[in-house]
Amino acid sequence: MTDWFEILDPRFKALVLGNVHVEKLWTGARWTEGPVYVPAGKYLLFSDIPNDRVLRYDETDGGVSIFDSPCGFQNGHTLDREGRVIACEHGGRRVSRREHDGSVSVIADRVEGKRLNSPNDAVVRSDGSVWFTDPAYGIDCDYEGHMSEPEAGGCHVYRVGTDGTVTAVATDFVRPNGIAFSLDERQLYIADTGATHAEDGPRHIRVFDVQGDRLANGRVFATCEAGLFDGFRLDRLGNIWTSAADGVHCYAPDGTLLGKIRVPEVVSNVEFGGPKRNRLYITATQSLYSVYLQVNGARRFG
Ligand code: MG
Repeated sequence: MTDWFEILDPRFKALVLGNVHVEKLWTGARWTEGPVYVPAGKYLLFSDIPNDRVLRYDETDGGVSIFDSPCGFQNGHTLDREGRVIACEHGGRRVSRREHDGSVSVIADRVEGKRLNSPNDAVVRSDGSVWFTDPAYGIDCDYEGHMSEPEAGGCHVYRVGTDGTVTAVATDFVRPNGIAFSLDERQLYIADTGATHAEDGPRHIRVFDVQGDRLANGRVFATCEAGLFDGFRLDRLGNIWTSAADGVHCYAPDGTLLGKIRVPEVVSNVEFGGPKRNRLYITATQSLYSVYLQVNGARRFG
């Protein structure tokens, strides 16, 4: 086992590989985040938020190019059931969708007539609803968006139904951030990075029971021991691979910290990619990394 991995629980050995290394694929951003793998195109999109651009890593030749700029200071991305890219826009203060013909549709930009803050991360449920977090990082100052007054009355988590209705599903977060469903979609994990604005603020992931279109029984799933949990993804066994200051942390569904992948820059988010979804892409401060794993990422649907 190489020095890239820190094994804290024997279960971690079955998830990683002994003869691989963490590859630095590209550097040159101010802050990378929001990776999404597009299997039909064999590429990964990721954000360079302060530079107001989305970059594309081409898996076939290793090249990185600009996919979209300016882009409304996009942050988190995900795919919907039809393979369309969903984007969280700090600058646009909205969640948008790029259609197959290249046009952009608005999924949500207001709640009860008031503008959103700056959507950060999103996930699509198998019923087509879009769930997203709305902290204020993109309106706090002009670095990652446009400094603006908040209107929504807090930093909440929202659900957008297939009819376009936007509903708050969690209103007790300081700074909601990464978001992902459990494999059976009966639970929803949501990070709170409130510690960025208060020394004793939250630095944890909470898990909720999903009851229809509502959330219930929220409790702390894991507290970060190195920096903050920002974005995260699940593997096909339900383990949570999450960003942290010293690399990627892997948690079992029971909340046990199984192990870590050491990354030399502060990690913001991860995404499973490659045709077999066994390559973990890692956005970390100025750079993009990847590492092959023994475990495959969760299938998005089906
Ligand atoms: Mg985030």
